[in-house]
Amino acid sequence: MGNGAHIRFWLDKWCGNASFSVAFPALFRLAADKQDPVARCWDSQRLDVCCGWKRPVSSNAELEELLLLRQSIGSLFLSNSADRWRWEGNKDGVFNVADFKNLLVQQNGPDRNSVMKWIVWVPLKVKVFVWRLEMDRIPTRLALQRRNMHLSDVSCGLCGAVDESSIHIFTACELSCGFWTAIGSWCKLGPIFAFDIKDLLLLPAEKTSKESKKIIQGIVMVSMCVIWVARNEKIFRSKDVKIGELVAKVKSLSFLWLKSRSRYKQLVWKDWTIFPLYMMQSCCASVLVLRTGSVFY
Ligand SMILES: [Zn+2]
Repeated sequence: MGNGAHIRFWLDKWCGNASFSVAFPALFRLAADKQDPVARCWDSQRLDVCCGWKRPVSSNAELEELLLLRQSIGSLFLSNSADRWRWEGNKDGVFNVADFKNLLVQQNGPDRNSVMKWIVWVPLKVKVFVWRLEMDRIPTRLALQRRNMHLSDVSCGLCGAVDESSIHIFTACELSCGFWTAIGSWCKLGPIFAFDIKDLLLLPAEKTSKESKKIIQGIVMVSMCVIWVARNEKIFRSKDVKIGELVAKVKSLSFLWLKSRSRYKQLVWKDWTIFPLYMMQSCCASVLVLRTGSVFY
């Protein structure tokens, strides 16, 4: 705490484990301006509360809370320096991603059921999105409502038929079902039956080589991101969602990223759009050539 000019006395959590609006509800109701900063509510010369009240503090509950409030603040002295937020996640009080990640793991426990693979050729922003999706931490309308955000409509941004949860958007929505069928046919995976995000992340269901698996898993992750972007564009820009366009986007983005971020530098666009694992087949063909000495292209 510096001069108390930018920290809200009632609404910010600056002293103790809860904001004063929560810790002292009777006084909070009585406060004339609930947005007042600390500097306007605390007299550090007299070490006393100096809030504006709608009427004098009078009931037993209010007087009792006032006493506790004074005790909580104690002998806080407001200086001339500016207020500064301190992060409580480490000793320095300065936020950093590594400590934040450790805190998340401590709070939630390590998710032993996590199936997402950290595919190298997939960009970090896509991986982080899928990681959050697997933990059901993306801001779907139902998730926002759970966090007490008032929404007049919680229906799916893509189909509008049912409430919008992440499982619905990515596995049950009519649009995503059609989309996964198209992706499954492009990757020759057969029909995709997914009831959970993990079902998608566990693709391909059939046994295949490690390299093929990494490509399919990456394509699934890119696909998830493309669905989410389409959902956002429909909600915020009223843009129509067409399955063909989404699949084309997945093909081009995954082609670009795999070609530039993996050893598949020779990837050919025309072959890729037909079957993304075509190079595995040609790899087998070249082995065949080496073994037999004949050309079987
Ligand atoms: Zn839907």
